[in-house]
Amino acid sequence: MRSRASSILLAIANLLIPVAVFIFATGFFPYKPFLPGLAKFQELKYGDPPEAPFDKIIFMVVDALRSDFVYSADSGFMFTQSLISSGAAIPFTAHATSPTITMPRVKAITTGSIPSFLDVILNFAESDTTSTLAHQDTWLAQLKAKEDGKLVMYGDDTWLKLFPDTFSRADGTSSFFVSDFTEVDNNVTRHVPEELLASDWNAMIMHYLGLDHIGHKAGPHSPNMLPKQIEMDGIVKDIYEAIESEAHLESTLFVLCGDHGMNDGGNHGGSAPGETSPALVFMSPKLKTITNGTKCPTIPTQDFDYYTKIEQSDIAPTLAGLLGFPVPLNNLGVFIPEFLSFWSTGADQVQLLLRNAMQIQTIVRATFPNSDFSPGPQDNSRCEGSLSSGDDLACKWQRAFEILETAGQDLDPEVVLPPLMGFCKSAQDTMSSTASNYDLSCLMLGSIVSFVSVILSLVALRPKYSQITSTGAFFTLLLALYSIMMFASSYVEEEQHFWYWTASAWFFYLFLFESRKECFENFALHPALMLLALLRITRRWNQTGQKYAGSPDIVHSTLLNIPLVLWTLIGATYLHITFRLARHIAQSLSESKDNEAENGVPDIARIGGALSVLPLGGMAFLFKLSFTAKDAPELVAGMAGTLLGWVEGLSLIGVARLVFWGIGASVVWLVVSHWRRKRSRKGEQGVGSTQEALDLAIGLFDLLSLFLVTQTRAQNIPLYLVFRAQLFFLTHLNLPPIQITISSLLLSHVSFFAQGNSNAISSIDLSNAYNGVTGYNVLAVGLLVFISNWAGPIYWASVGTLLLGVYEEEQGKEGNTTQEPIKIKPWVAVERTQLKVQADPNLKNAQDSDLSMLSQDPAKQEQPPLYFFNHLAWLTLFTSFSLLTVMVACTALRTHLFIWTVFSPKYLYAMVWGVAFHLGINVGWGSVMWWASPC
Ligand SMILES: [Zn+2]
Repeated sequence: MRSRASSILLAIANLLIPVAVFIFATGFFPYKPFLPGLAKFQELKYGDPPEAPFDKIIFMVVDALRSDFVYSADSGFMFTQSLISSGAAIPFTAHATSPTITMPRVKAITTGSIPSFLDVILNFAESDTTSTLAHQDTWLAQLKAKEDGKLVMYGDDTWLKLFPDTFSRADGTSSFFVSDFTEVDNNVTRHVPEELLASDWNAMIMHYLGLDHIGHKAGPHSPNMLPKQIEMDGIVKDIYEAIESEAHLESTLFVLCGDHGMNDGGNHGGSAPGETSPALVFMSPKLKTITNGTKCPTIPTQDFDYYTKIEQSDIAPTLAGLLGFPVPLNNLGVFIPEFLSFWSTGADQVQLLLRNAMQIQTIVRATFPNSDFSPGPQDNSRCEGSLSSGDDLACKWQRAFEILETAGQDLDPEVVLPPLMGFCKSAQDTMSSTASNYDLSCLMLGSIVSFVSVILSLVALRPKYSQITSTGAFFTLLLALYSIMMFASSYVEEEQHFWYWTASAWFFYLFLFESRKECFENFALHPALMLLALLRITRRWNQTGQKYAGSPDIVHSTLLNIPLVLWTLIGATYLHITFRLARHIAQSLSESKDNEAENGVPDIARIGGALSVLPLGGMAFLFKLSFTAKDAPELVAGMAGTLLGWVEGLSLIGVARLVFWGIGASVVWLVVSHWRRKRSRKGEQGVGSTQEALDLAIGLFDLLSLFLVTQTRAQNIPLYLVFRAQLFFLTHLNLPPIQITISSLLLSHVSFFAQGNSNAISSIDLSNAYNGVTGYNVLAVGLLVFISNWAGPIYWASVGTLLLGVYEEEQGKEGNTTQEPIKIKPWVAVERTQLKVQADPNLKNAQDSDLSMLSQDPAKQEQPPLYFFNHLAWLTLFTSFSLLTVMVACTALRTHLFIWTVFSPKYLYAMVWGVAFHLGINVGWGSVMWWASPC
């Protein structure tokens, strides 16, 4: 009775998780509709659009070019600085909004719009066609639409993906191997001389990646940084001199900018001042007519604020004015006023800004359909007091329009420009601020759905939860503390501490709990204390979070400095896994021998099968070595030259595929040989059957470990030795099921952060995203990114299922006849009696999985314990509860300053934990493991 109802409740609770995640996401990351088509010049009574001073543009992006890299006294951009001082260049700091990663930044620069957070997801699904800008209004599309419009592009292939079929000549470079500082840039620079001689294009785009790679590798103070800046400055010089000397480049506007900056660790993605402050320099000899020069180098007013601070989206309308095309339709940027003096008449200046304001007004109107933007005599009192964002903008628009009308044909920029500018700026602020974007009803509904999921899993667990136990109290406390933590941005940023401390508390609790039960001869070697000691190592492996991200840890202060130690440990990890695999295969062979000889399987095939697993481990190791030699050459420095030389010749994709195929084939081998043994034993209820079945589960687990190790960065691979040791001591604790569940839950989270992950977008590891993948296969790449970032949690989730199986098996073997003399809590007694029932082989077959109870007859349904069912129910409770907390925190703090930088990424992570990890791994993969376990 309880099982059937509980199973249904739990199934619904799990189904509600993706529903809640989806509903909340649609409200939290609203889809911004884009106006299709290209903008056209409107007829205005002030005459034709003003004449443009430039007809060509060279747009040079240096990835992660932080403002101080160009403007400070330590900069290598000496030539650029001399242009700024002489007045041939005008400098700015261009504010880049979070997420500070390349694709959304390029979107902002080219469309003038402010990309939503959804672009982060699309940034990883790069082949997604909806994320291309091919059919959107950008300054590239406008320049291409011009008479004789022709575009060329060299550098980061993000541009080629965003603008398919846009460029007449292009050579894209992939930003995949960040250890490459020179090739990526030489590949751009080698095209520059011939393109400067060609006169057929009106826009040349260059995107240099080397400086960003240096940042990722060794931070902004890397010894490679200054030489790279000098190299980039040299290219600026070549181009500027060509503009001075070549007649066809005479009216060329030369823009140098960063797409984003970098933080002190050399990474980006978030909203630290360093990440959001890239440099932006406009260069041309013609600029000397409007400026006398600016002091350079200089010191910033604060953090990285050098010179006038503008928004990155302002680039698009400014280019529109300077190159003479209509402002792109979806633009929210404002023409940079410094350039207005290019036009001598007030009418031209007003016209430029008016066209900009009219275009923004169209978007504002669509966003606030209830506010009245129609011009005409207004009741001024309507504009006083506190107004909604829409009404406030409507008032500003009407006032600007009124002043314009009163001025008639005699346009005085001093009078007319400020209100127009004021409207544009407020519109930009309002539209880029978050508050107006949320769909509150979706946020509420999503939260309610996860609340229902929490209630359902609680009801499914009710019989368990109704007994007050110290373990239950621990779990409740864990949930309570987690939910409180989610409301403080600084705790969300440093979530790892929560898990490190709760795991420590948990192992200490287990120590107290276990030492009451049994007397261990050597107290210091008590498994729970050993777990605590190992936890110390795990915690110290990688420093993560925001505050201490750069502090010393095992990886950075030891392993990276002594590659020999690192590779010895990595070798040991691979050897360990390979030996375990070899044993599984050998076992499957020896067992199949005695009852399959008559099947006529030749011995040689069996030997071949056994031999195949040994090369698999070796190949996996070679793959890691050759991949690391390419991805992080400093990690293999000082290793035997001949081996490295040989390894360098390997095809990474080919080897990765061989490893994956090898793992797949081994899975098939284990399952098939297990199935054969089972079939040949059909009829005899053997004692050995549980042990055999357990072998299958352990075999699958070891193959999974090999797969996870393949998807892990070299410096984190030795962690699996630590995991192994933790697993060893966990097995020796003989935990009851609920404690196994909590241990696996805690260690899943601990291992996630120990691998160097955090709740920030910048910590997502993409280095293993393309193992064995050619081209951009969204599904494969997404799966590999998930597996490589969640490798630790996947490992520990599998351990949870495995330990439940072992537990069951061991309790079954002992028959549970030995009674402890010490006091046993009532629920332990209940558990034990249930185990006795369990030990009865007739009942044992009744539990294929938790859901099998649905098909059982009522008498058998009364038979607990449903280990896996309870395991899943606890995990579902945690998952839906943590989702609920994150959703409520995001809703409550939606106007908070940190919503984009802390809570939006946290929600993205919560989505992955809830859907990919819980449903995919806990439920999906867990069921497979459980099926392979003896039950
Ligand atoms: Zn980068």
